[in-house]
Amino acid sequence: MSTELVRGRFAPSPSGRMHLGNVASSLVAWLSAKSAGGVVVLRIEDLDRGRCTREYAEQIARDFERLGLCWDEGGLYDGYLQSGCDDYYLSVLERVAAKAKVYPCFCTRAELHTASAPHASDGTPIYDGRCKRLSTAECERLLAERPAALRVEVPDREYSFDDRRLGRISQNLARECGDFVLRRSDGIFSYQLAVVADDIRMGVTEVVRGRDLADSTPRQLYLYELLDAPRPEYLHTPLLVAPDGKRLSKREKSLDLGKLFEISTPERIIGELAWRLGIIDRSEPVTPTEILGEFSREKLVRGDVTIDEREVLEHIGR
Ligand code: GLU
Repeated sequence: MSTELVRGRFAPSPSGRMHLGNVASSLVAWLSAKSAGGVVVLRIEDLDRGRCTREYAEQIARDFERLGLCWDEGGLYDGYLQSGCDDYYLSVLERVAAKAKVYPCFCTRAELHTASAPHASDGTPIYDGRCKRLSTAECERLLAERPAALRVEVPDREYSFDDRRLGRISQNLARECGDFVLRRSDGIFSYQLAVVADDIRMGVTEVVRGRDLADSTPRQLYLYELLDAPRPEYLHTPLLVAPDGKRLSKREKSLDLGKLFEISTPERIIGELAWRLGIIDRSEPVTPTEILGEFSREKLVRGDVTIDEREVLEHIGR
């Protein structure tokens, strides 16, 4: 058995108040790391300066504390806010470029989203690599005209991992994903690059996050390989979906923590989620610490969790 200290993380994007779905994956991340005697790092994923704010980041930190999801390291400090780490991401990008072909891409959003483009399972178009075929002269001419994104070429190979809830997941990067962006044309580093760069730097051994991000994992594994870093374990948590099958998002304010705290308590919210995720047998007020001993990955429900808003509000209202 490995004696390595488990290092999990919370990696919220402060583009709005957390909703029940965010709390559900954070709860599993916390229980998984803590039940193994590990620690949780809080990293703020505020790469997108246009959508993220300091106020939301502070709110998220307060909400975690109020819910009893206390982290051990990180927070709103230098090195744990992605918005302040550009120099580091640039150095990682250079290391990637030393191992794989990284090239400028001038395609506009509209060009990428043509109806004829094949789409990956997460809905993004599979890039056909057209900018890779530009001559040096053409590339230079275009670079003088407009800023370019940077893409990394992917191999025609399967990248696989054993998810701790979903089992084996594989993706052929060339066929199912295509060359992907490491840095956007506005200079912002991509989620794929930053998340891997930070998980490596922070020594994260266990990545627990929503199932919607499982599709990103093979791309991230490729970056781990190029960077010659050990990959973490993965557990992708059930999504919370409305009865119509749509994922709950920050746009639906009714189940965000601001609204929920008006009618409920942290213990009731945690209890309801732990029950719906399969961790405890009934919905009752509990703190995360109280259910640490009950947690095991095998208990987690297999499918997504359908949330009928009215029913949840009735359950957890005081
Ligand atoms: N920042 C991402 C989010 O809030 C999570 C990224 C990750 O866990 O890899 O959805």
